[in-house]
Amino acid sequence: MLDLRIGGDEFVTMAGPCSVETERELLATAHHVRRCGARILRGGAFKPRSSPYSFQGHGLAALKMLARARQECGLAIVTEVMSECDVPMVAEYADILQIGARSMENYSLLEAAAHSGRPILLKRGMAATIADLLRSAQLILDEGNPHVILCERGIRTFEPAMRNTLDAAAIALLKQISHLPVVADPSHAAGRRELVPALARIAVAAGADGLLVEVHPNPDRAWSDGEQSLDFAGFDEMMVSLDPYLALRSLAVGEPAGARLMEAIG
Ligand code: PEP
Ligand code: MN
Repeated sequence: MLDLRIGGDEFVTMAGPCSVETERELLATAHHVRRCGARILRGGAFKPRSSPYSFQGHGLAALKMLARARQECGLAIVTEVMSECDVPMVAEYADILQIGARSMENYSLLEAAAHSGRPILLKRGMAATIADLLRSAQLILDEGNPHVILCERGIRTFEPAMRNTLDAAAIALLKQISHLPVVADPSHAAGRRELVPALARIAVAAGADGLLVEVHPNPDRAWSDGEQSLDFAGFDEMMVSLDPYLALRSLAVGEPAGARLMEAIG
């Protein structure tokens, strides 16, 4: 079981590569992000890719590497599950199951993931409204799993300058109308690493409970999402730049509305 609470006083950073590649690189990344204050290691074992010719992930071998990294570094593990058939296997290795943006409305996957009993990191679909996201969250809650973390990862808009558009207002609104923790993924929102720290600071200021960030020892050689991955020094700098924002966050007051979860948006 996880010994940390997401959505409480502590701001929780999840960091690691887009895809799990080699064990050596994964362990180096895990050690580094932990030293910088991350509590959770991310890494894709099963990758949803736009092209069938792109790297699809190492599957079970990657899950085993993540488990070794947890053992060595004491970080919890979050990794995506794409198919309901894989839920039992992924749940055996991961502390948190990630439901990707492309799967947010895959209700049979959501049900299977809910039944695993693991906390679920639910990413907002790239064309999903806030109400759509909350409906998917509600489905997981209705299946008896109360541990849902909402993730704003940027949405498709007419603006091509970024890969997606970080919806900072959605973070603020979700914190007001839902009792669920909200984290932000500035990496998939930005699409390029230079922009990631600024979006991370915006997410903190908007009230996020944590971050999901892509970090790779050598982003230019990453097998997926290298353009938006921070290298070790970049992650370090980002974390330091968050400090004043996190200090302000700890002064912030205001209770989330809890029970108003669906009524307010529905
Ligand atoms: C990821 O986290 O690597 C990922 C594929 O994210 P998303 O589902 O938000 O595109
Ligand atoms: Mn990615």
